[in-house]
Amino acid sequence: MKSVAVNGYGTIGKRVADAVSAQEDMKIIGVSKTKPDFEARMAVQKGYDLYISIPEREKLFEQAGIEISGTVDEMLEKADIVVDCTPEGIGARNLETYKKMGVKAIFQGGEKHDNIGLSFNSFANYSDSYGKDYARVVSCNTTGLTRTLKPIDDLCGIKKVRAVMVRRGGDPSQINKGPINAVVPNPPTVPSHHGPDLKTVMYGVDINTVALLVPTTLMHQHNLMVELENPVDVDEIKAKLNETPRVLLVKASEGIGSTAEIMEYAKELGRSRNDLFEIPVWEESLNVVDGELYYMQAVHQESDVVPENVDAIRAMLEMEEDNNKSIAKTNKAMGIL
Ligand code: NAD
Repeated sequence: MKSVAVNGYGTIGKRVADAVSAQEDMKIIGVSKTKPDFEARMAVQKGYDLYISIPEREKLFEQAGIEISGTVDEMLEKADIVVDCTPEGIGARNLETYKKMGVKAIFQGGEKHDNIGLSFNSFANYSDSYGKDYARVVSCNTTGLTRTLKPIDDLCGIKKVRAVMVRRGGDPSQINKGPINAVVPNPPTVPSHHGPDLKTVMYGVDINTVALLVPTTLMHQHNLMVELENPVDVDEIKAKLNETPRVLLVKASEGIGSTAEIMEYAKELGRSRNDLFEIPVWEESLNVVDGELYYMQAVHQESDVVPENVDAIRAMLEMEEDNNKSIAKTNKAMGIL
């Protein structure tokens, strides 16, 4: 049983903690918070040992009546690996601490690939992280792209990808993010960073992306145009995506015609936090025109990267050599379709 710490118990961190707890071969030995807020209180109520990232704030936790088990350094001493889920940029700064403490670490997509040196996706390059000390699970958008492009590449080869990424303005709880009433080219320059990020896990793929921010918090949405190496028909693509774990074909004709309806479907699945770990692809959108595949998909940004974090733990701690076996274990424990 391997011991996992989560540094930064926010949107991603609390989900990673629950996903790790659901596995049979690993356990959470602690989670960290900077502030004695409701998430800190609920982490303790759930039974997680809570460690504080800023030792000077011990009194604040005491005053709030939230029990702490020590400092982050003390948490790291007990861990085989830490999953760093702190906000963008902080993870890379924490890397020095992890090196000093001799603890392996997984970072999130907000960190730059170059600062960590290795990026991870369960389907594209699992074995490259086997036994490694530091890796970064690529962002929610890049994970979404990889989940569908990798099986398509395996099926018929990809010559070139173009994708238009429609990005949510903020997560549902982020009251300070936007836009409220605008479509924002983000960035206004072309290409966006998503294409280069995909190349950190799907090596050599030819891809260009453009991105827009829109006033929604539910999900990202992607529109893909894929020039194929070898001709295939739509039914072969559908069959391939259908058999691919963590990808779902959904039908607008069955009332799942928008990100709002996908989230309603996720609620019906009855999972904690209404998460949708899978990447839904609109079946009707799949079409091949002049050797080019078109399709549309969505990404539940708060949860799609969570199973990848679990697989990254197995790879880096050499718990499972075969990516498909790790994917199957993670999926079974998390009830992933
Ligand atoms: P978040 O703000 O929801 O959570 C971050 C947590 O870290 C908070 O609880 C915060 O209090 C805590 N924290 C802040 N500074 C800290 C420090 N110095 N030490 C320890 N904890 C600290 O952020 P998030 O959305 O969970 O994002 C975390 C990472 O995951 C980022 O790299 C982000 O880019 C990436 N990511 C986010 C999403 C998303 O949609 N939210 C999706 C995929 C990847």
